[in-house]
Amino acid sequence: MEKKITDIQGTWELSNGVKMPYVGLGVWQSDQGEEVMNAVKWALKAGYRHIDTAAAYKNEEGVGKAIKESGVNREDIFVTSKLWNDDQGYEETLKAFETTMEKLQLDVLDLYLIHWPVEGKYKDTWRAMEKLYNDGRIRAIGVSNFLKPQLEDLLKDAKVKPMVNQLEFHPWLVQQELQDFCEKNNIQYEGWSPLMQGKLFSEDIVNDIAEKYDKSPAQIVLRWDLQHGVITIPKSVNEKHIKSNIEIFDFELSDEDMKTIDALDKSERLGPDPANFDF
Ligand code: NDP
Repeated sequence: MEKKITDIQGTWELSNGVKMPYVGLGVWQSDQGEEVMNAVKWALKAGYRHIDTAAAYKNEEGVGKAIKESGVNREDIFVTSKLWNDDQGYEETLKAFETTMEKLQLDVLDLYLIHWPVEGKYKDTWRAMEKLYNDGRIRAIGVSNFLKPQLEDLLKDAKVKPMVNQLEFHPWLVQQELQDFCEKNNIQYEGWSPLMQGKLFSEDIVNDIAEKYDKSPAQIVLRWDLQHGVITIPKSVNEKHIKSNIEIFDFELSDEDMKTIDALDKSERLGPDPANFDF
């Protein structure tokens, strides 16, 4: 399916038909209280319609409150949360989900992800995710930090296929083979730490391209995500950054500049490698 890029409220369709906004606000390391609440409210005011949180971020309550107070209709906002590693297992997942929903003050979640592939547990966890999905409590289910072996293993038994895989993704970590595998299996690729927490701003080539388009390095990298068909969730608690990070719909990177940025890939990670993550 063609992935059109239109504006901040534009969506791409997941394998089950659910429409997911391709830009969201990430809220990791945003403090529970005023910090996260302001960030979410500024983002919604600026036009964002997608918030990416997790039980592990310990700010679901703030996210839920800000959504309630924002004045934007709940149905118009796409909310993602993630199940933490300690809560994996069938019964544990069902329980952890209810806690998340209480904190977010929501009845239905748009997307629930298994945060990391905890070995020996993620299949039982997935069965619980499938139940919650079939019961209508979650509109789409997916995984995060699953590499090809774990995806293949999960797909063997899954009755409902994961609709999304959220992974570290930026010009220094492309993982093309994994992207191709996800695409072949109709699993939408979603990138975390798209700005590599600011580290990419020191990359000369990104700066040169930014100058050429009269854009910031952040805007260049986020636009590059979208032109690759990758959903992006930059984090910021700064109103100026929140606004400027979505000024990416009035220009298009040329094929040549896309390729120049692609060539920066050096398989460099900011976070842990899921292949040897210590759960
Ligand atoms: P990002 O790559 O989004 O970078 C965030 C950092 O960049 C912050 O320090 C922010 O500071 C700064 N920043 C943002 N915009 C600008 C700008 N325009 N100019 C200058 N600095 C800027 O990092 P994250 O690691 O937070 O990743 C994004 C999201 O991905 C997370 O918040 C989370 O939702 C998700 N994630 C998921 C993981 C998973 O395992 N599934 C793991 C890690 C992240 P400031 O706030 O001051 O603007």
